[in-house]
Amino acid sequence: MRLSIQTQKLVAEGAYQVLSKANELEKKGRNIIHFEIGQPDFPTPGNISRSAIEAIKQGKTKYNPPLGIFQLREAVANHVSNSRQVDVSPNMVAITPSGKTAIFAAMAAILNPGDEVIYPDPGFPTYNTLTDFFGAQKRPVPLLEENNFSFNMEVFLKQFSSKTKLIILNSPSNPTGGVIPLEDLKTIARVVSGSNCWILTDEIYSWILYGDQVFKSIYSLPKMAQRTILVDSFSKTYSMTGWRLGYLIMPEIYIEKMDYLLTNMVGCTATFTQYAGLEALNGSQLGIKKMISEFEKRRNYLVGELNNIKGVSCQMPEGAFYVFPNIKRLKKRSSEIADYLLKEVGVSLLPGTAFGKYGEGYLRISYANSMENLKEGVRRIREAIDKI
Ligand code: PMP
Repeated sequence: MRLSIQTQKLVAEGAYQVLSKANELEKKGRNIIHFEIGQPDFPTPGNISRSAIEAIKQGKTKYNPPLGIFQLREAVANHVSNSRQVDVSPNMVAITPSGKTAIFAAMAAILNPGDEVIYPDPGFPTYNTLTDFFGAQKRPVPLLEENNFSFNMEVFLKQFSSKTKLIILNSPSNPTGGVIPLEDLKTIARVVSGSNCWILTDEIYSWILYGDQVFKSIYSLPKMAQRTILVDSFSKTYSMTGWRLGYLIMPEIYIEKMDYLLTNMVGCTATFTQYAGLEALNGSQLGIKKMISEFEKRRNYLVGELNNIKGVSCQMPEGAFYVFPNIKRLKKRSSEIADYLLKEVGVSLLPGTAFGKYGEGYLRISYANSMENLKEGVRRIREAIDKI
């Protein structure tokens, strides 16, 4: 008895590995500061939770269509049309049980074995893993600190060829917090025009942007909507990670096959969570604004403090809730430093290499944690690093 070759190749995602080590230590009584988890520490806003409870009370607990309830598809279409200045119809929307499912469905729908996939490195590990899983060829493009962690465009241009079937973009980025500048988006759009290449834009952090930045999506550029699958989710923006609710937008001509793919993958997304999603999009957005302004304070504090630690330097990320400090001057591998910080002072964070080989020399710290914990965590990191 054997599992499929591609399933045998799967390994644990870095974040889960570190989290389970941290949990082991916690069980033994150690006090751990969690900087590894990528989820908002705020509760789901009350109006959203209440609408799910109301939906359950009203018996909205049965199957619904594989592409989702029409009201939510309509609300998503309006939301994406307004935020990306494009015309999206509800018939282009598929509701999915999470952003991850949307990424899986999009890649399953596009990739044949041997196709080439360009994706960011360091990047969300799913891109790399699923490229392998679908038998496609990996063409990572480094995100470099000197480019504010946007694509290295020179490498991108070299990696792009007639075999490129898919380009994955993620802005703001997990793990770096970097944002792809409009100029680079325009270059990518120019390069793909006339090709058969798809774009998957993972815009799960698009609302978590700081200062007076306006979100820029490749989806808004001329002719891009006809070759792009846009993925978003309620997880981060509305602090709904455990609800499992996301969506994708794709050209209407392909949605029928997506319907059949989702029919076989998931049947449908839970019904009452979709009513919560409806409230999230149509209800008050005050909770999100408060959360983002709190994240901004924490980001500013953390970057300031990390830059005061000898051997560490940290750029100010423009979005998401991660910082990606450079630890190259410590002359140790990222995984060694991450292990050391966990064992020595109980600070659980991720090595940059959990997101690809170009993450070497960096750590990822999630500041989705209270200011009190950030202060204590930074104090412990300084104490441990001063001893190296
Ligand atoms: N994309 C990125 C870049 C992420 O960081 C995450 C969550 N960590 C996801 C997609 C998936 O989010 P979810 O499945 O919770 O919607």
